[in-house]
Amino acid sequence: MSSRAWTCNAVRIIEADFNRSADTHLIPLPLPALPGVHVYLKDESSHPTGSLKHRLARSLFLYALANGWIREGTTVVEASSGSTAVSEAYFARLLGLPFVAVMPRATSPEKVAAIEFYGGRCHFVEGAAQIYPAAAQVAADRSGHYMDQFTYAERATDWRGNNNIAESVFAQMVLEPHPEPRAIVCAAGTGGTPATFSRYVRYRRHTTEVVVADPEDSVFFDYYASGDRALTCQRASRIEGIGRPQVEASFIRESIDAMVKVPDAAAIAAIHWLERVIGRRAGGSTGTILYGALPLLQRMVQAGEQGSVVLVMCDGGERYTHSYYDDAWLAANGLDPGVYPARIAAFLERGEAQDWAVRESRR
Ligand SMILES: *Cc1c(COP(=O)(O)O)cnc(C)c1O
Repeated sequence: MSSRAWTCNAVRIIEADFNRSADTHLIPLPLPALPGVHVYLKDESSHPTGSLKHRLARSLFLYALANGWIREGTTVVEASSGSTAVSEAYFARLLGLPFVAVMPRATSPEKVAAIEFYGGRCHFVEGAAQIYPAAAQVAADRSGHYMDQFTYAERATDWRGNNNIAESVFAQMVLEPHPEPRAIVCAAGTGGTPATFSRYVRYRRHTTEVVVADPEDSVFFDYYASGDRALTCQRASRIEGIGRPQVEASFIRESIDAMVKVPDAAAIAAIHWLERVIGRRAGGSTGTILYGALPLLQRMVQAGEQGSVVLVMCDGGERYTHSYYDDAWLAANGLDPGVYPARIAAFLERGEAQDWAVRESRR
């Protein structure tokens, strides 16, 4: 097959996969204690590979194919804390391409198993910061292609529409009492999702604000507040998928309306609360987002403001059975729930105002 014919077929395979797939659900979160405030979860766990990284992986493959960076037989390599690699392994298998994920040794065994399930190989390095040079090296050694999600996430996705996550949310909100969300709260790993939401709302002239919640071990919040690109952070984030040790190229600071820094123990308490209320388990980043939205929801209630807020449910809890849903793991990782479960329940179930003790920044 000629190189162009192979690429043409590869694009068709990815488009056909999309064509067979349904959109992800937008789930209302029942909050009778907060009258007039409507909260929705954009459930990205229902993608075939279980997280919002399914969208990113599809975009990155199409971008690399369109650029001629991936051809028949190209080994695809990625630096990933896990979820992106799971989704890319899925698309690599669809196209019959070898795939290598370079990731921190601490990545959950469930994610490693998922990558291997799709025929990918895992290459482990010690720290979160080592994945970048190691991935470039593995790609060079095999004459492969380093996808580099942290650089290309923001540009591989069509932010104007094309059923990106933002367009999907706005279409699903049309018949709701407040179709134009007051805010969309998400989190940053690559920064691709915040960039897509932020650009889309400006381009489509919505009033919606895009708020990004950041976990403890991450530079994004301080970079947002200070503009210092050289910031680094030594510890790997305990909230898988979000929080980075360095400022990533795909994180578009100027596009974000506000950020909130959320304690990791609060994020874990939030997903345990969520499980009680909707009967579903979410990953840690969803907890960071949910807790990060609480000060905003409280301000809406206090101001008597009616409206809707959309939270991204980035992935499900299946991959974290042995971490966020295991008391021994939480204790070993210093994630004592402390005051957080009582605080969350008091506000969300009884409407009692709380002191959230989070840092917020607005530009
Ligand atoms: C990647 C990721 C995010 C953040 O999304 P980005 O588009 O990379 O900023 C949030 N949660 C999980 C579980 C992720 O894997």
